Amino acid sequence: MIFAELKLKNGEIVRIPFVCQQCGKCCRILSKVVFDPVEGKLYMENIEEISKHVNLDALMEELSGKVKAKHPVKLSCPFFKDNRCTIHPIRPRSCRIFPLGMDLDQGIGCPGLKRLKEIVSAFDAQRVEYKFVERKEPKVKVSSEVVEKFLSLNPSDEEIKEFYRLNELRKS
Ligand code: SF4
Ligand code: SF4
Repeated sequence: MIFAELKLKNGEIVRIPFVCQQCGKCCRILSKVVFDPVEGKLYMENIEEISKHVNLDALMEELSGKVKAKHPVKLSCPFFKDNRCTIHPIRPRSCRIFPLGMDLDQGIGCPGLKRLKEIVSAFDAQRVEYKFVERKEPKVKVSSEVVEKFLSLNPSDEEIKEFYRLNELRKS
């Protein structure tokens, strides 16, 4: 779960969800799985786990045939097919936390991150923290004024659903 946690000037905490727009840019342009044709190796986290589900030898053979470069190159991710991640449930951690990283989306122009920042900036917060969490965070109490403000920013159905879920709100 990726979101921005805002501390507002009155001390209130509110969480704004990151909603992926499924554009595929991060897997096409900035694969977190790297094939090095010189070494003939795939570099990725949890390769052992992934190798239980995917025939990596066959994959490397396929990639070696495609890449003739003399130096390591970064390709579109080898697991990205038909505009989707074929190993989504076991994808590497760096894929799960994207677009949060040292340089956020590393300049690829993630539209989901752009939208998140747009909403965040509308709140004029005292402090903003971008977070990736695997478990539930402690409950926050969001006022009706903040909910109204969020709804005035033309959120999509998905953004509304995630906002309510993240802030543990009930629709009236
Ligand atoms: S670039 Fe951003 S919005 Fe597009 S698929 Fe990747 S995470 Fe989702
Ligand atoms: S493993 Fe999946 S999520 Fe990660 S870069 Fe490849 S296609 Fe994208």
